[in-house]
Amino acid sequence: MYTAEFAYKKATSVAEAIQLLQQHPEAKLLAGGHSLIPAMKLRLAAPPALIDISKVAELRGVRREGDTLVVGAMTTYRELETSDLLKAHCPLIPQAVYHIGDPMVRAKGTIGGSLAHADPAADLPAS
Ligand SMILES: Cc1cc2nc3c(=O)[nH]c(=O)nc-3n(C[C@H](O)[C@H](O)[C@H](O)COP(=O)(O)OP(=O)(O)OC[C@H]3O[C@@H](n4cnc5c(N)ncnc54)[C@H](O)[C@@H]3O)c2cc1C
Repeated sequence: MYTAEFAYKKATSVAEAIQLLQQHPEAKLLAGGHSLIPAMKLRLAAPPALIDISKVAELRGVRREGDTLVVGAMTTYRELETSDLLKAHCPLIPQAVYHIGDPMVRAKGTIGGSLAHADPAADLPAS
């Protein structure tokens, strides 16, 4: 099935994403699209607009700030799986991510998308 019609907007920074959300309060953020697009194709979701945050570089990556590991919402499963910082300090995450879907899902799916989607059967929320 095809999705319902929607407007497509692309943000290149967090500030731009917030501005677009203010302009389109009914919009959904589009991260890896691996939960949202199937839901739209099944017409379980029909947002009037999508705001693509996949190119927002400041939301990506794993870094250390003092005693804290900071993981950006747009960090993909693949990046979590291969992060030396996570392997050293929080190995549960790379180990859990290894079992998610297939290489294509892991290349596109993001930690922010998984947590926001909040599927109780998903791997990352429980991890
Ligand atoms: C074939 C297949 C196999 C899969 N297998 C597994 C599996 O084994 N284990 C598992 O856990 N999952 C699995 N999934 C789900 C996959 O992990 C999804 O990628 C994930 O649930 C959603 O991440 P996403 O980046 O694709 O988010 P999207 O689909 O883009 O977004 C999901 C929701 O989160 C919202 N959102 C996204 N980013 C943000 C943000 N930064 N802030 C606020 N809201 C946000 C969106 O608006 C949307 O409502 C599978 C999916 C597919 C298609």
